[in-house]
Amino acid sequence: MIVEVIVDVSAYPIDRPFDYSVPEHLESLVERGSRVHVPFGNRKVQGFITNIKEHTDFDISKLKEIQSIIDVEPVVTEELLQLSKWLTNKTLCYEIDALQVMLPAALRASYKKNIKLIDPSELDENFLALFGKKESISYDVIEKAGYLRQMKKYLMQGFVQLETVIKQNAKAKTIAKYRVVANKEFIHEQLSNLSKSAIKQKELMEWLLIQQQTSFTMEELKETANANSSTIKVLIEKNILEKDKEEVYREISSLEYDDKDKRFQLTDEQALALKKINHAQNNAESTTFLVHGITGSGKTEIYLNAIENSILKGKQAIMLVPEISLTPQMTRRFKLRFGDQVAVMHSGLSVGEKYDEWRKIWRGEVKVVVGARSAIFAPFKDLGLIILDEEHESTYKQEDTPRYHARDVAIWRSEYHNCPVILGSATPSLESYARAAKGVYTLLTLKMRAKEQALPTVNVVDMRTELKNGNRSMFSIDLADAVREKLDKKEQIVLFLNKRGFSSFVLCRDCGTVVECKQCDISLTYHRAGEQLKCHYCGHEEPVPTKCPECTSEHIRFFGTGTQKVEEEIARLFPLARVLRMDVDTTRTKGSHERILKQFGDGEADILLGTQMIAKGLDFPNITLVGVLNADTTLHLADFRAAEKTFQLMTQVSGRAGRHDKEGKVYIQTYTPEHYAIELSKDQLFEPFYHKEMQVRKQYEYPPFYYLTLVQVTHENVLIASEYARLATDWLRANLSEQTMVVGPTACAISKIQNRYRYQCLIKYKKEPLLIEKLQQLIKIYRTEWMKKGIILSVDLDPSTIL
Ligand code: ADP
Ligand code: ZN
Ligand code: ZN
Repeated sequence: MIVEVIVDVSAYPIDRPFDYSVPEHLESLVERGSRVHVPFGNRKVQGFITNIKEHTDFDISKLKEIQSIIDVEPVVTEELLQLSKWLTNKTLCYEIDALQVMLPAALRASYKKNIKLIDPSELDENFLALFGKKESISYDVIEKAGYLRQMKKYLMQGFVQLETVIKQNAKAKTIAKYRVVANKEFIHEQLSNLSKSAIKQKELMEWLLIQQQTSFTMEELKETANANSSTIKVLIEKNILEKDKEEVYREISSLEYDDKDKRFQLTDEQALALKKINHAQNNAESTTFLVHGITGSGKTEIYLNAIENSILKGKQAIMLVPEISLTPQMTRRFKLRFGDQVAVMHSGLSVGEKYDEWRKIWRGEVKVVVGARSAIFAPFKDLGLIILDEEHESTYKQEDTPRYHARDVAIWRSEYHNCPVILGSATPSLESYARAAKGVYTLLTLKMRAKEQALPTVNVVDMRTELKNGNRSMFSIDLADAVREKLDKKEQIVLFLNKRGFSSFVLCRDCGTVVECKQCDISLTYHRAGEQLKCHYCGHEEPVPTKCPECTSEHIRFFGTGTQKVEEEIARLFPLARVLRMDVDTTRTKGSHERILKQFGDGEADILLGTQMIAKGLDFPNITLVGVLNADTTLHLADFRAAEKTFQLMTQVSGRAGRHDKEGKVYIQTYTPEHYAIELSKDQLFEPFYHKEMQVRKQYEYPPFYYLTLVQVTHENVLIASEYARLATDWLRANLSEQTMVVGPTACAISKIQNRYRYQCLIKYKKEPLLIEKLQQLIKIYRTEWMKKGIILSVDLDPSTIL
């Protein structure tokens, strides 16, 4: 028997399966999707079995043998094996990376397997002897004794069971249980033999006789049956009870809430959307729906209903949210509706907790997973529905290898399972909306808020005028007044500081001008060294102006503010307000997002001040004022999606106000109030925004009219980095079709990260049949020759940002 194994040696030039022979004693154990240890060079490495066959093209006498089997049951399903092949091609990663990304971190750590006795009476004597007095022994003992085949048979018959113990404190958690091992007659017999004084024993035996279940915790026996430790001990001695260890799932700690599941009579728009989705589900159609519904239009309610339909049909559903630890309210709604049928997966869980949730999915014990990006790989075997809420969010794209987009994986899986996908958003990505316009996706529109509340009134405040009137504070007069008014009324306020990790543009505070590249319509990036402004799309450079090119004002400079500075300003202007701050500094510890949000929801603060994190999911009745302190930051990102991101963010932030009975007000402060992304977000005018932005994209040849591929080259030495970026760019230019534009090489907007200099080349194309093949060739050159020199080259076929 021969197996094909994908070995865990990324950084190896060749990415293909290797053939290994299987020693006879392991033959019955190998399965596609199981991991093995194999010799590779003079090392022992891990690998995945991706195929089993009888013949090999290699000299069979030279073939090496697999050393051991890591998983007694496969960890990757047949479907996911196919998906990993697709992912490898789609993202140009190593196949091993595609396989690893599908597994929970716990399985990537080392772990130990134990075999546990379930029905000793069925086992062969010699096999049983291995256990001695223990009820569970290590897999290694069985392997050494040469009983693997036997074990696999018993495993399938259910006479023994596999337990996995993860090292690194993430093992399956166990608790002590007391199991009734005697039958009823035996207990009756023991009862009749009891002496009159043994009241406690009598009580416990009689109680056990009338119970349905057969295993109890110490607590249950003490509290419900009123037993004590010595009585329990006596019953163990009499062979009525047995002490046992039972695997339990970790309780994911959650804060206490007192809300209940609310069901609504659906609005007409909701009902129509649901009808179409359910129709696709019932007819096993892999339709992709784009649910475009304004904030508060009841999209989540549609998801819940569609999932219910999927569960009714005996199928499972994946519900993706951008970053779930930021949206505890969303998770709550799913738990309230579906209870124990929900698994939750996100970065806020410990390795062990994630492993537990993953196993529930693997074993089919849950029907729904609510999770962030990687939950798209949930090993469900019969998917009925996949949902991506806030589909436009860039967190759905993994920025590390494998550089996949959850939306693409969702569509692949939906075609495999013949089930629909729902993409939901108040501000769909331009790509998705364009696809819906072309009929590739089916558009479902919700124009009304579910409770018929009005959208909040949005006021755009021109910060240039504030400056002219002598107000140098980061609060405009209007916003400051509004804050005071709400504080008086004891209503809540959300203040939003627009901060995207990296933003360094130069802005004129008198007229709002930002210096841009004439060819690319992208803000020039400020480089402190040499006081230069650079375009990292085309490489254009110019010195930082000392006067505004538009109005000749000298108030032109680098732009930026931190949350702490705002907090000080709030303390100065509104000394009595209670403020909660939510940003990277206050949310480092596990569960802190949820805690802060809960405090705010419970009314323990008047003002919630935060960055992008607070834009999502916040749904509290008492929020009636939202202030955006600086809308310009995202608008002038050196990224062709800057306007789109700003529109999305402004719409989302405004959507936080007045979601319930009280009317909401929004203030957006900006130096460029006339920009269409800001103007149109005032009334959530998505369609006009879409059309305007599409024009710009067409004119400057950006997606969705053109595709982009980003090739980045980094090295510790600036000269080597730029030299190899040049080599890569020239090679691509020489090998790709003439119509394809190869732009660069240019320094990246963030020109140095962790002491490595970064250069890039951008490929723009409409149709390029050679792209994948040529990129694979370039990657091969890199892996065989450049890697040795310390170069790192990465390829992103659909970059979500270009920084
Ligand atoms: P979205 O996901 O589009 O922002 P939600 O599903 O969160 O919207 O709904 C917004 C609010 O309206 C929530 O408070 C929700 O409980 C409520 N809601 C949803 N559907 C209905 C309905 N059919 N009737 C009344 N209220 C509803
Ligand atoms: Zn100016
Ligand atoms: Zn340019």
